[in-house]
Formats: sequence, structure tokens, C-alpha cells
Amino acid sequence: MSRNSKAKDNNQFKIARERMVAQQIEQRGIRDPRVLEAFRSVPRHLFMDEALWNQAYGDFPLPIGSGQTISQPYIVALMTQQLGLKGNERVLEIGTGSGYQTAILAELASMVYSVECVHSLLPRARKILEKLKYTNVRLKLDDGTWGWPSEAPFAAAIVTAGSPSVPQPIIDQLDDPGVLIIPVGDEYSQVLMKIIKSQGKIHQEDLGGVRFVKLVGDHGWKRT
Ligand code: SAH
Repeated sequence: MSRNSKAKDNNQFKIARERMVAQQIEQRGIRDPRVLEAFRSVPRHLFMDEALWNQAYGDFPLPIGSGQTISQPYIVALMTQQLGLKGNERVLEIGTGSGYQTAILAELASMVYSVECVHSLLPRARKILEKLKYTNVRLKLDDGTWGWPSEAPFAAAIVTAGSPSVPQPIIDQLDDPGVLIIPVGDEYSQVLMKIIKSQGKIHQEDLGGVRFVKLVGDHGWKRT
């Protein structure tokens, strides 16, 4: 691609991103200005294969290989807003996948620790996060249902795969106060749960129905 057409191309993606934020995210009630700004700045298309770039800002999830998906932009925004990040938090993410949610979190918190269990996905996520110069991200290949004990506690945690129950290690690794967002349910549909740790007590809220790929691990779905 020539330099000129590349610039035009980038501009097209920027316009698509502005539209995505206005129509899919802001209009549906996501109002945290820092969250909206993060979605305007992270180039979502770069987290998927070039063949999908023309669909990258659509209102749906897309395949990222190995049977996994990059979530619908609105769901990423909803989960992110619910973490209530101010900028000084250490955040745990389970399910790096494409690395898109990781980049959004890196825009909004001080450090992001992200765990992925599928071997082939991690190098791609690492490459793009490095290219975009996110220096506040650590990635690890492991069963994320165990959390990341050596880096705990975390002020916020987010699980981007559906679990039959809330993995106890992740609750244990939450700071006090701390918040965890996780889809819990069967393999076809889940409820997005917000778990809050405060003054030694655990509260939970139901944020509505969602559909995620399975969280597979010792404290998630059994490996088949
Ligand atoms: N947040 C991702 C969405 C990824 S889909 C994105 O923005 O692209 C869910 C991811 O969770 C998949 O990549 C899947 O491999 C991963 N996953 C499933 N079980 C896991 C486990 N026990 N530990 C870590 N990652 C897991």
C-alpha cells in the first residue's frame, strides 16, 4: 500500500471507530468519558486478521482463530465501565484472546496482568500490544482460573470467557475494596456478574444476559 492510501485507510478506520463509539456504545448508556476515549483510540481492526478489517467496527463478535472470538464492542465497553477504573489500578484479565480488551484496560489502569491458555493466541496478542507500545501489560500462558497469585492483589479483575461458577482463586486475589466482572452460566448463555469485595464481605450484582466461549480450566469447565 502506498503512503498516501495508507493514510486514507487509517482515516477510514478512525471514522468507523467514532461511529462505533457513538452508535453502539454511547447511545446504549456507556457514559464514562475515559472509557469512551479508550474505545476511540484503540485500533480494533489491528487485533484481527486483515481479511476481517472491513467488519472490525461492526456490532458483533468476530472469530480470532482456535475457535475463539473477539467480543462485540458494546460488551467489552459494558464490562470495562463496570470495573470503574480511575487509572491507578492493577488489573487481572483472564482470556487475553486477541488482546483487544487488554489494550482497552491498559489505556485505563496502571498495570494489566492478562492470562491466556491457548498457546497459539498469545504470540499474536503480544506482537500487536508491543507494536502499539503498551508497556504496562504482562501476559502469561496458563490456566487463568487460578488467577495470577504472584501478582495479587488486584483492585479489578475481568474474565472474558463463560464459567459454570466464580473461580475461588480469583475472588481470593481481589483486593479489598475490589471488583470482578465475570459471565457465569451454562455453555449456551450466561449472566454477567459483578462481584464486589468490600470490608471483608462479598456482594454480587446481576448485569444481564451474555454469551461467551467457555472458560476451560481447573476452576471452570472441565477439559474434554
Ligand atoms: N478478551 C478477548 C476475548 C477472548 S474470548 C478479546 O478481546 O479478544 C475468551 C478467551 O478466553 C479465549 O481466548 C480462550 O482461549 C480464553 N480462555 C478460556 N479458558 C481460559 C483459561 N482457563 N485461562 C485463560 N484463558 C482462557
